Amino acid sequence: MTARPAARPRANWAGNVVFAAADLHRPATLGQLQAVVARSRRIRVLAAGHSFNDLADSPGTQVSLAGLPAEVEIDSAARLARISAGLRYAELAPRLDRHGFALANLASLPHISVAGACATATHGSGAARPNLAAAVAGLTLVTAEGDVAEIGRQHDWFDGAVVHLGALGVVAGLVLELVPAFDVAQRVYEDLPLEVLGDHFTDLMSGAYSVSLFTDWRAPRLTQLWLKQRLTAPSTPSITQGSWFTATPAPGPRHPVPGLPADTCTQQLGVPGRWYDRLPHFRAESRPSAGHELQSEYLLPVEHAIPALNALNRIRDRLAPALRICEIRVVAADQLWLSPCYRQDSVAFHFTWIADAASVLPVVMLTERQLTPFAARPHWGKIFTIPPQTLRSSYERLPDYLDLMRRLDPSGKFRNSYTDRHLAS
Ligand SMILES: Cc1cc2nc3c(=O)[nH]c(=O)nc-3n(C[C@H](O)[C@H](O)[C@H](O)COP(=O)(O)OP(=O)(O)OC[C@H]3O[C@@H](n4cnc5c(N)ncnc54)[C@H](O)[C@@H]3O)c2cc1C
Repeated sequence: MTARPAARPRANWAGNVVFAAADLHRPATLGQLQAVVARSRRIRVLAAGHSFNDLADSPGTQVSLAGLPAEVEIDSAARLARISAGLRYAELAPRLDRHGFALANLASLPHISVAGACATATHGSGAARPNLAAAVAGLTLVTAEGDVAEIGRQHDWFDGAVVHLGALGVVAGLVLELVPAFDVAQRVYEDLPLEVLGDHFTDLMSGAYSVSLFTDWRAPRLTQLWLKQRLTAPSTPSITQGSWFTATPAPGPRHPVPGLPADTCTQQLGVPGRWYDRLPHFRAESRPSAGHELQSEYLLPVEHAIPALNALNRIRDRLAPALRICEIRVVAADQLWLSPCYRQDSVAFHFTWIADAASVLPVVMLTERQLTPFAARPHWGKIFTIPPQTLRSSYERLPDYLDLMRRLDPSGKFRNSYTDRHLAS
């Protein structure tokens, strides 16, 4: 039985990348997936397509796992879930919750696939919370020959395989670490001068389970602060009913992008809800974020947060016209070789740009120049122009990853121009 090619996808979610791949296969079984991988000369997975660059493209064929059975198998005693890799967080989270379990953290949106998010070290926020890939305890990999391999912590290269950028094989399944399900209350505060942030950054960022700060860079101030507080018991006191570090509670629901209606956002005003209905900013059933946009993001050691913020403040006249909104988050360190947070607690500066690449690219380059002194690493799935040499030298385990890539995929079946450009030419 063979997988039938589906209609060629035109573009990624943002519409800024038109895929060059000749076709898109959509196998319905693991066997069909193995067959399509085995017979393809060049192949890469296209998951939810939410990356803003050509990462998911292929010089040959693309394959989608969305047609495979959406399986979730929970081992309650071990607090692990074995899941199909094509699942999106929006599908997975309620299924875990029904069994009394949760994931420790989520990104700003539940629309992305678990495998795609982990492949690029996608993250949420929280001083004590590493990126989403840190929850991966095992991978089922379809290798270049079409064989199935179970990869786990018993492999000394496991930490190199979790954030893999799609270049090691096709991940057909993942094992994820779970935590007990929990409730969260979300509150939005408004208006905080940058100098207050400078004086209290650490306290502010550790003031809730997850904290996101927003600025439009039109003034040296934060426009909004989103606090997601984990409720450990029905009586957990809310963060505060009054002001928070001089920021005032928003009187109604807010969208982080100025002027957009809040009905696409998860519930605020301190109303308790399940973890998966509060940790993302955007509701699963709505188009997330601004919708018409480009994105970049840079992660750097958290101790540089304030100097980096000041460096960005110095170019805010250039940032503001190209920007829908800028989000500042913190991410805890991990051990994953290609994670931008490898062994360093990090601050992440995210930019939702207007959807005009010609205006945005010079500002992206300027932003990168401002952040260069702080050893900034770009988000793998977003727009960046950092030269390959600089990027490569910022990942001490990259040589080990390249060895792994050559060992698992000697013919370069899973390589594309993105991996050639950024990882190894
Ligand atoms: C509106 C919006 C909001 C976002 N918010 C955040 C955020 O809060 N935090 C953050 O860190 N990022 C965020 N991102 C970026 C996003 O999380 C990443 O780009 C993520 O990789 C997208 O997942 P995807 O399922 O769309 O993967 P794709 O973009 O489809 O694929 C990403 C990469 O993973 C590979 N891949 C996917 N599945 C597999 C598989 N099964 N086997 C092998 N390789 C695979 C692909 O080949 C590709 O290389 C956001 C993006 C958008 C559009």
